[in-house]
Amino acid sequence: MPGNHFSSIPMVDLQEELALIREPVLEAVTEVLDSGDYILGEKGEKLEKLTAQYVGASYSIGVASGTDALQLSLEALDIGPGDDVITTPFTFFATAGTIAKTGARPVFVDIEEETYNIDPSKIEEVITQNTKAIIVVHLYGKATNMNTIMKIAREHNLFVIEDACQAIGTEYDGKRVGSIGDIGCFSFFPSKNLGAFGDAGLVTANDRKLYEKIFQLRNHGSSEKYHHSLIGMNSRLDEIQAAILLVKLYYLDIFLHKRKEAANIYTENLKDLVKTPPIASSREHTFHQYCIESDKRDELALDLESNGIDSAIYYPIPLHLQPVFDYLHYKQGDFPIAEKVAERILALPISPTLSFQKQDYIITTIRRFLENNG
Ligand SMILES: *Cc1c(COP(=O)(O)O)cnc(C)c1O
Repeated sequence: MPGNHFSSIPMVDLQEELALIREPVLEAVTEVLDSGDYILGEKGEKLEKLTAQYVGASYSIGVASGTDALQLSLEALDIGPGDDVITTPFTFFATAGTIAKTGARPVFVDIEEETYNIDPSKIEEVITQNTKAIIVVHLYGKATNMNTIMKIAREHNLFVIEDACQAIGTEYDGKRVGSIGDIGCFSFFPSKNLGAFGDAGLVTANDRKLYEKIFQLRNHGSSEKYHHSLIGMNSRLDEIQAAILLVKLYYLDIFLHKRKEAANIYTENLKDLVKTPPIASSREHTFHQYCIESDKRDELALDLESNGIDSAIYYPIPLHLQPVFDYLHYKQGDFPIAEKVAERILALPISPTLSFQKQDYIITTIRRFLENNG
């Protein structure tokens, strides 16, 4: 690794982050071990209360993962065979995978070139009598244009699920994402902006009936032990993860601020050479990922790798071109913006603990490559 004085720079350094909060995390875990309460207990309830407050939603329900949050939300809205659900083709698989899993049909709409989120101006043309809901994704932590989405949804009587798995704490028009649509879904996968040390997730809602239904569905459709009024599943949040998340929630705003500072440094130093993400006013972007676009994406990624710097492609294949969705009969060319971005996008290392020296080294390496190969 020529000129590299770091062994390697990962996309996100979870050990570095742990080092900052090791003591309170160990204390919290020990407390749970000693309590003898391991699933759906005091910590989980406290996390639900504090995350509802944080997001600005009336209710919050701890579940086993972000994928389950989406699955339970769709089930709570009675979405299934014969229904259409509109979403973006440029997202993590779970967004559309859960729609298909209910028996409903994922209907894709191309993204905006600037935000990488679903293009609201293209939604109305695919709405039919079968359309039940829209799942928006606040990709990379950038808020979707919710005012337009909510207007379309109300006009056509559609539910809105916010896939906020990458966007906890992201703000939009004075609110936080996850509190604007009918349901918000969050993931606490370890690498997410608020990450557990295992799988965990959360659903937020403002409507009491919806809340009660999801609350039951996550625990085999029962609100009272051994009385089942719905067919649910086991998607409970465990206490150790809840306790860890409570510690990390305390630091979340500081960590999001650090991400934004790192994002600004990247943008300042790279914007003359590559396409950089939309500048966010206030906290409309929380930079779960910092992605650039370049014609030389693949060569750049190789050059970074040879210099000990990780990079990643989220996502290399838009969902309408995934073989598993052949039955939906989409083809290459259907969503030109998503397809073009998939060929050009590259995520750079970003985390609350990314040091100035490491970031400077990443920037210098990128600039050297692009100035010599641009
Ligand atoms: C991470 C993620 C999910 C799934 O969350 P898990 O906790 O991994 O199940 C869903 N949607 C998006 C956009 C994600 O980034």
